[in-house]
Parts: sequence; structure tokens; C-alpha cells
Amino acid sequence: MRIPRWSIFLLLVFSMAAVHRGRAQDGFRALDRSLISLDRDWAYRWGDSPLDADGVPLWAYEAEDSQAWTGINFPSNPPNREGSNRVWFRTRLPDFDLPDPRLFIYSIDLAAEVYLEGRRIYAYGEMHPRGRAAFRGWPWHLIALPEEAAGKQLYVRVFSDYRDIGLWGEVILGSGADQMLRIVRRDSIRIIVAVISLTLSLVFLLIYFLRERQHSFLYLCLITLALVIRVFSETHVKQLLLQAPLFFEYVKAVSYFLLPPLVILFLQEILGARYRKITRAAAAVVLGLFGFTIIGCAVGWIRLCDTYLLLDGVAVCTMVFLGVLSVRAAAAGNVEARLVCFNFILFGLLALYSILVGNGVFPWTDEINYLLLFQFSLGLAVILIRRLVSFRYRMEEYSSKLQMQSEELQTLNQSLEEKVQERTRQLEVANRQLREEKITLQITSITDGLTGVHNRTYALERLEQEVGEAKRYRKSLSVIMFDLDHFKRVNDFFGHQVGDSVLQRVAQIFRYTMRDSDLVGRYGGEEFLIVLPETDCSEAALVAERIRGDIEAQSWSEPQLHVTISGGVSEYAGGSAEQLIRRADSLMYRAKQLGRNQIVSETTLNRRASADAG
Ligand code: GH3
Ligand code: MG
Ligand code: MG
Repeated sequence: MRIPRWSIFLLLVFSMAAVHRGRAQDGFRALDRSLISLDRDWAYRWGDSPLDADGVPLWAYEAEDSQAWTGINFPSNPPNREGSNRVWFRTRLPDFDLPDPRLFIYSIDLAAEVYLEGRRIYAYGEMHPRGRAAFRGWPWHLIALPEEAAGKQLYVRVFSDYRDIGLWGEVILGSGADQMLRIVRRDSIRIIVAVISLTLSLVFLLIYFLRERQHSFLYLCLITLALVIRVFSETHVKQLLLQAPLFFEYVKAVSYFLLPPLVILFLQEILGARYRKITRAAAAVVLGLFGFTIIGCAVGWIRLCDTYLLLDGVAVCTMVFLGVLSVRAAAAGNVEARLVCFNFILFGLLALYSILVGNGVFPWTDEINYLLLFQFSLGLAVILIRRLVSFRYRMEEYSSKLQMQSEELQTLNQSLEEKVQERTRQLEVANRQLREEKITLQITSITDGLTGVHNRTYALERLEQEVGEAKRYRKSLSVIMFDLDHFKRVNDFFGHQVGDSVLQRVAQIFRYTMRDSDLVGRYGGEEFLIVLPETDCSEAALVAERIRGDIEAQSWSEPQLHVTISGGVSEYAGGSAEQLIRRADSLMYRAKQLGRNQIVSETTLNRRASADAG
């Protein structure tokens, strides 16, 4: 969101109009018909009056002497002063009929006495016969008039060694109540403006602490605060709270002094590093002057009221300097720089007008100062709001970008997760395959490729183990060695393929006939070794005989094919696995010799031998 420029312009115009309306209402004419401004038909007379025998100045009651008195509109700074520090003014009071009539004067340079036809009715400051009068501030005065004052001649005797002499501001006749009401009403807008600006100042301070201590906000806070102090010290009601005009004059001076360096420092922050050197130097000069003046006043070298001309000079120079800087920055800068420039030029013009009023070039008005504050604060507020809005705008942009990035990250994360899952799946499959391959490899490494029974290496390995067991636990263990009879002939008549299938079939019969704890191994081409743990020789011979019978009883696909086997059975009785096999092998050969298709075990051999012997 951006603030359209025309709205800023409108805001400025409306605020100016509001202030102007406030000013119009502020005037005494709109308040009460009983308030009469004594702003014309005065006369003056340079010098001081001789005193009569009672010590009363002769000029305070003398009959009118048109030769000695010169007409003047307002009793302030008459011409042809020629170094004089004494002057008399007089005017004829109008015919009025007021309860508790009072004369309001704001204010007097620097000391004065008020006479009503020879009677002194008011005195302010010291009417020094020689030398200097102490500066006591510029308070307003509310002088009570006697009932019979209407239509009478009013004299004001003034002493001033300041460059201004006489009364200035306003001289108003009215009832005490109306005067008080007017004082309060006059300040209502000032108080409102001061409160608003004070709030603004606190907001600036808060932002300063919240936003990484950006100095521009601290300066804004101090500038606004200085303006608030200045406006408050220019209210009339303050005098009702505290009767200390000199103190308020000092407070006002300090806020006035501090304004240019603060504005310079603020501009420096806004304009950036390019103007840092020159703005620092300017701030140093102005601050130095401030220090010098304050010390001078405190020590008594100079009077505060004498420093204003110097201060005004410095202010004008600063305004011109700042104006040039602002215009240069605006020409090169962005909208904000232009706003600052516009604000300062307006501020500068108003300040210049205020200075010219203060120095008597324009008729007196003190409303210009709060107009100044209002304009300045408003301008700053606009800049501030702009900054905050653009900050929010940037934050929104940033957060939406962040959102987008986080969404992207999320989808990226998701796809990454999917990829990881997919990869894990693939890895698991590969692992399983690898495990299966390993198992297959393990199986093939101990299996005979043609017949599917264990190979020779594994059969021997297992036999060694079983021999170890039998030896240790004294268990029985037997082996059978089978050899196919006349297998060469099978190959020769029916071919190798038929020979292979015969081998496979025979192995299958072994596998189905044997127990799970028994082991079948292909020992050679058509020789099979069978290991039978926990089996003695006669049991093993029975098993061998059953197998031999099964094979003999087999019918084959080739009608002429007839397969028989011979086997030798031996039981472990100490010694090595090799010896056990050798014995079975030799018994198998014995079976061949005896005519094949039979089993020869150690027990049958012994039996036969004893029969032969018998
Ligand atoms: P005997 O009864 O004396 O054992 O006679 P035989 O013909 O079986 O004689 P021998 O044991 O010496 O011959 C073994 C034959 O077995 C030799 C070879 O042709 C055959 N043979 C060995 N391994 C295989 C094989 O894997 N496949 C086939 N088809 N024949 C084989
Ligand atoms: Mg053989
Ligand atoms: Mg054979």
C-alpha cells in the first residue's frame, strides 16, 4: 500500500485551514464585545519627566501639550530614539462601563510604570536612573483600573536599554473575567497542539527504541520535544501556574537554540553520508554558539534578551543552509527527500516570518510559533507514516516471498522424501536378491549339479564331522558306497543323455528313501556315498538292500534298459573317515566280484566266510 501524494497535500491544506480557523477564533473581537483593543491613537514623548514636590512625574498629569507629544499608532519603538532609554506614552481610555476593568499588556520592554492622571497604578521592573536594568522576562500584565478610569488619560513611563522600547504585542481593555477567559481560550489550541506533538514525540522515541535505534527517530523526538517546550513556554496560562517569566524565557531560549542543530542532525540522517561532514560542522558551530550564549548569560556578560538578534541571525543562516541542502537532496533523491525538502522550506519560511515579526518588520503576532510547530510536526508525521507504511509494505513483500520459498522447500522436501523411500525400496530389493544369491551360491557350492544330491567335497566334510561325533560320543556310524553296474554299457547303448537321466533318477530314489539325518553324496561318476549317523552295520545293510531292491524294481522309459547297483556297507570302528570309506569301497568291489546287484556288508561278509569255512 502507498499513500497517494494528493492525500498528503490535502492533509496539509486541511491542517493549515484548521490552524487558521483556530487563530480567527483566538482573536478578542470574536470573544466578547466588552474587550477593546487599544491599538491606535497613542502619543509618545522621548526622555523622562521631572518630578513634582511629592515625587510624582509632571508628565503623568500635565495638561495636554500637543507640542511635546507626538502621535503614534501603537506605543512601541517610536522613531528618532537617538540612544534614549526612556520614553513616555499616553492614550485616552475609551468610555467603558465594565465590572472590574483591567488592562492586559503583553508585554513590556523592559521596565514600566503606569499612571492614571498622576496616580501610579502599576509598576514593573526597575526604572533605573542610570545604567542597565536587569532583564526579568516578558510576562503578560493584568493591571486593575479604578472604576472612574473611563475616558481618562493613561500614561506609561518606559525604561529600556534593550534595542526595543515600549509595549508590544497587545494592549487590551476588558473586565477581569473576560480577560482571564480570553487568556485560557487563546491557549486552548496551543495546548492541544502541544499535547498532540508531545504524543508524537513519545511515538518517535518508542520507534527509536523499537527500530534498532535509528538516530533519525531520536532527532525527530527531540525536535518535536523542543517545539513542544517552545510552544508551551509561549502560552499565557503557564504564567497562571508559575509566576517565573525569566525561567520560562530561559526554557524557551534553550528550545530555540537547540532546534537548528537538531534539525541539522536529523537532516544529516535523512540525506545520508554525502552531506555528513558539512552538516556535522554546521551542527558544531550552532551548538558552540549555544554553549557560549548560555555560559555568557549565566556569568552575566550578556543578557538573554540581547542574544535574540544573534540567535535570529544564526537561525536565518541555518534555514538558508538547510534549505539549500534540502533542495539539493530533493533534486537527487526520492519522494521522501522531496517531502523533507518541502517541509523544511515551509518551516523555514514560517520561521523567517516569525523572526521578522519578532524584529518588528511585520505587526506583532505570536501565533506563528505554534503554527510552525503544527506544520513541522505534521510534515514529520507524514514522513514517519510513509516510512512505516513502506516498512510494512516491504515486510509484507518479504513475508510473501518467504512463504513462497517455504512452499518450494516443502515440495522439494516431499520429492526428496519420495526419492529416499524409492531408493530404500530398491536397496531392500537388491539386498534380498543378494541374500538369495548368497544362499543359492552356498547351496550350489555344496550340491552336485547333475543329480541335486551333495557333492563329494561336502559329503567328505560331513563324514569327517560325523566321525568326530561318533568318536567323542561313542555313537554308531555307518556308510554305504554304491556303484551302478555296467554303467558304461548304459552309456554305450542308450547314449550319455539317458545315462545322465538314470543318474538323476537313482539320486532321487536315494533322497526319498533316506532319513533327513542321513547324507547322500555323489562320490564319483556313478558312485554314491551314503552316511548314516547313529546306525550300525546291519541296519545300514538293510537300508542298502531296500534301496537296491527299489532300483532293481524301477521301470524305465527305454524298454531294454535295466539298472542295478552294487553296494558295500561298513561301520565305524575307530580310525579315520578315509579308512571307513576305503573299507566300504572294497566291500562294494567284493559285491561286484560276487556277481553285482547285491549288497556286501562287514557282517554278511563275516557270515559268508564262516559259512564257507563250515
Ligand atoms: P562295473 O559294473 O564294473 O562298474 O562296470 P562299469 O561299466 O560301470 O565300469 P566303470 O565303473 O569303470 O565305468 C564307469 C562309467 O560310468 C564310465 C563312464 O562312461 C560312466 N560315467 C561316469 N560318469 C558319468 C556321467 O556323469 N554321465 C554318464 N552318462 N556316464 C558317466
Ligand atoms: Mg564306477
Ligand atoms: Mg559301475
